[in-house]
Amino acid sequence: MTDTLIKVDLTQSPTENEMIHNRWHPDIPMACWVNPGDDFILETFDWTGGFIQNNDSADDVRDIDLSTVHYLSGPVGVKGAEPGDLLVVDLLDIGAKQDSLWGFNGFFSKKNGGGFLTDHFPEAQKSIWDFKGMFTSSRHVPGVNFAGLIHPGLIGCLPDKPMLDTWNKREIDFIATDPERVPGLANPPFAATAHMGKMTGEARAKAAAEGARTVPPREHGGNCDIKDLSRGSKVFFPVYVDGAGLSVGDLHFSQGDGEITFCGAIEMAGWVHMKVSLIKGGMAKYGIKNPIFKPSPITPSYNDYLIFEGISVDEAGKQYYLDVHIAYRQACLNAIEYLKKFGYSGAQAYSILGTAPVQGHISGVVDVPNACATLWLPTQIFDFDINPNAAGPTKMIDGSIDMPLSHDLR
Ligand code: ZN
Repeated sequence: MTDTLIKVDLTQSPTENEMIHNRWHPDIPMACWVNPGDDFILETFDWTGGFIQNNDSADDVRDIDLSTVHYLSGPVGVKGAEPGDLLVVDLLDIGAKQDSLWGFNGFFSKKNGGGFLTDHFPEAQKSIWDFKGMFTSSRHVPGVNFAGLIHPGLIGCLPDKPMLDTWNKREIDFIATDPERVPGLANPPFAATAHMGKMTGEARAKAAAEGARTVPPREHGGNCDIKDLSRGSKVFFPVYVDGAGLSVGDLHFSQGDGEITFCGAIEMAGWVHMKVSLIKGGMAKYGIKNPIFKPSPITPSYNDYLIFEGISVDEAGKQYYLDVHIAYRQACLNAIEYLKKFGYSGAQAYSILGTAPVQGHISGVVDVPNACATLWLPTQIFDFDINPNAAGPTKMIDGSIDMPLSHDLR
């Protein structure tokens, strides 16, 4: 039987579990050690450590303290791993915990986190998704049902001290260019809510004050939120410290490309069965700076799409130069307007784009001045035909059900 090296109790606070941490720092002690070639299971909290509840209120999404996230399981030490190696991680399987067969999706309030379309959806909203085997549906978003493409939103190895210092300097310098911005440009270290695994005493206090936040993807991988890094994938991670220090968390049952709703995909607590091995000196041998990976042999086979185009001209008509962020936003807004014609609220449509196996593509980045991005909406996830035809759209969703919304009180 495969050993479960890290266990989580969903009735307990993640801060009481020494094998959990929520900052990146090279001095965080290994939670456990394995040998190259070993396979093992790590359980994880959902990224908020259980703060978001399975209910019909978005108050928790509105009120969450985002300095507490993400709660990661690890770091796992791999014997013999040295800086410059590649840590090869086979994601053999991933699942939800049996006592927690549900997940959440939401939009943060613009005043507390925001998101990709925060100017259009400035207040907190939430949808709950139930899992039936490999499929999911939501009592808050009727008319869709799809297979999960289960993946860790966040996985990577510990940075060394020079890399940590580089991250902190560049992000703090960046915040200084517009310190009053809402939401903020980045998140600096914040000791008060740091959970540093097994660390204690003065060493802990020092590391907590400089530990990097887990929000952005960085050179080591981290919070990449790549839906295709799913169960069955093989990932090659750069190693920076002796033992590598692999941590994982933020499991998603499913997500659309971009994780545009930010809170977040379909977020869940669960477990990862993985196997590790090493390629000695692999970073230099293959010229690797950021992780690379091989996809899963198993993915949901939705093969019919309605594809929405967007260009780098914003909602106010302002021209941007080859900006794929603006172009993808327009493609998403175009898809939301289209889905509203079938009776969905804007929030429900936005939630579908954040949760379903929606593809996002950078289609053109040379035809000045406009970049072109496309959003691929799988048609087979809907209970009804969403294709355009001469008769026009039929209102299939009656509007009696919507996603809980919480007005911002602050
Ligand atoms: Zn997530």
